[in-house]
Amino acid sequence: MLYAWVNGTKRAPIAKGETTACPDCGGTLTSVMPVENVPHWRHKAGDCDPWSEPEGPWHLGWKEKFDVSCREIGLRDAATGDRHRADILCGAGTIRATILELQHSSISEEERIQRETFYRQSHRMFWLVHIHNENAFHGYSFGFSLDFSNSHTVDGHQFAIMRWSGRSKQFIEKWKRAEAHVFFDYQGHIFYLAGEGVSRRIGGPFKKGMFALCHLKTDDFLRAVHWSDTIHP
Ligand SMILES: [Zn+2]
Repeated sequence: MLYAWVNGTKRAPIAKGETTACPDCGGTLTSVMPVENVPHWRHKAGDCDPWSEPEGPWHLGWKEKFDVSCREIGLRDAATGDRHRADILCGAGTIRATILELQHSSISEEERIQRETFYRQSHRMFWLVHIHNENAFHGYSFGFSLDFSNSHTVDGHQFAIMRWSGRSKQFIEKWKRAEAHVFFDYQGHIFYLAGEGVSRRIGGPFKKGMFALCHLKTDDFLRAVHWSDTIHP
C-alpha cells in the first residue's frame, strides 16, 4: 500500500524505519524505501487485503490524479468479513460512489469476477487495465489492433470496431466479458472498451476477437470516474 495515516496525515512513507498502523486491520506497517521503485508501506504480518499486488510508478501516477481522500479505501463485506482495499473510491457513501481498480499485472477471469462481485455490491466499478509487454506481448497486439476506420457514433462518442491482432484472443475476450466498465491505458492513451449495451447498438454482440473502443482524453476519463461528465458509460 502506498498510503497510511501518520500523526493525522495520510501519506506515503518518507524515511526508512517509519512505522504506523494499518487503518483497516490495525496491523503494524513499516516503510519500504526501494531504490528502484516507489516508497510504500508493508504489513509486518502480511497484508490484510489478499488481493494486494506489488505496485509501481504506474499505480502511483494514477492515484496521484485523485484527491488523497479517494486513494486506497478499505472496504469490508459485512456478511463474510472479507477486507479489500479499493485503489480509488470517489463519491463514497453517495449513489454515485465509483470504484476504480488499477490493474497492471494480469489477472485470471476468476479473479476478475471475484473483484467485480465484491466491489459492485454497492458501487459503480471501473477497471483501468495497463497494457504493456512485461509478462506477455499484449502491448504489441493491442497496438497492431488499433484501427479507427470502422467507426460509429453512440451518444456523441466515436466507437471503432476492430479485430484483435494477437494469436491468442484470451486477453481481449476476458475483458469483453467484464461486468464493470473497462478502460485500457496504452502508452498514456485511454480507451473505453464497448460493453454489451454499446456493442449491440453498433452491430454487436461481436464474435471472438472483435471489439470496439472509444478513445478518451485523460481529463474525460477522470471526469467519468468523478461522475461529472455529461454522458455516463
Ligand atoms: Zn491492514
